[in-house]
Amino acid sequence: MPAANAQNGCMEINKNCVYLLGAGPGDPDLLTVKAARVLAVADVVVYDHLVGEGVLDLIPARARLIYVGKESGNHSVAQEEISQRLVELGRQGGVVVRLKGGDPYIFGRGGEEITELAAAGIAFQVVPGITAASGMAAYAGIPLTHRDHAQSCLFVTGHLKDGSVDLDWPALARPRQTVVIYMGIGGLDEISRQLIAHGVSAAMPAAIVRNATRSDQRVLQASLGDLPEACRLAGIKPPALIVIGSVAGLAGQLDWFSDIQSGEARQPLKLVRSGNS
Ligand code: SAH
Repeated sequence: MPAANAQNGCMEINKNCVYLLGAGPGDPDLLTVKAARVLAVADVVVYDHLVGEGVLDLIPARARLIYVGKESGNHSVAQEEISQRLVELGRQGGVVVRLKGGDPYIFGRGGEEITELAAAGIAFQVVPGITAASGMAAYAGIPLTHRDHAQSCLFVTGHLKDGSVDLDWPALARPRQTVVIYMGIGGLDEISRQLIAHGVSAAMPAAIVRNATRSDQRVLQASLGDLPEACRLAGIKPPALIVIGSVAGLAGQLDWFSDIQSGEARQPLKLVRSGNS
């Protein structure tokens, strides 16, 4: 077990360990303190395409960077190969970081990679990250639960291995909940059609948030029925989340980030970031 530092309760960073590390949704200020501490001493960082540039900037120049990402459609390194690579790097020793966008255990295949490491007897730790849905909620002004709107929230993936969308539609269509769909842009027509067929009003507020928490975040609000067409017209591409539920209608009222994105108010945030890098 890693030793705890008696002074502040922080675990010491294990110098021979693979860290499965959540990079958060993009804004580097959303990294956990532990993630930043581990990154600062990383010897090797294995990362994919959802890791924000600002987070990559925090990796020390002496660390070896290995890109294993894939954009939707473009195949790159196969999952088994990534797991195998991590096992090899873990055997070589040092601080090995497997850096993943958001939280590694939410649609991040972190479980698959860690299972291989555990089977090979390699020491590992998992550092959670802010998942895209939480980042999106805060930065787009869409509270995921709200006493007046939603008592529960579902995170689902709109992308299945064979490219189809096969979700539990009756569960998704229940009232007074918020549904957040990861990887759903390709299946948006089907999602909208099925939810309406299962009883959700076509007028239900919905939103798409692309590049949540990043300086180029985009928020598109439309009714569930209009969302696919609005998405096409706006030309929105992944990575984006789809939010369905009456909380999506709050986005305009609770927005604070778009002012920072476009106006002078952005400057203080930039200063904080450059001070960190
Ligand atoms: N482990 C990640 C999710 C990986 S699945 C997490 O916890 O966030 C990849 C999907 O996540 C993308 O297709 C998109 O739907 C969503 N996603 C990740 N980062 C995002 C961002 N900054 N803005 C919007 N969606 C994002």
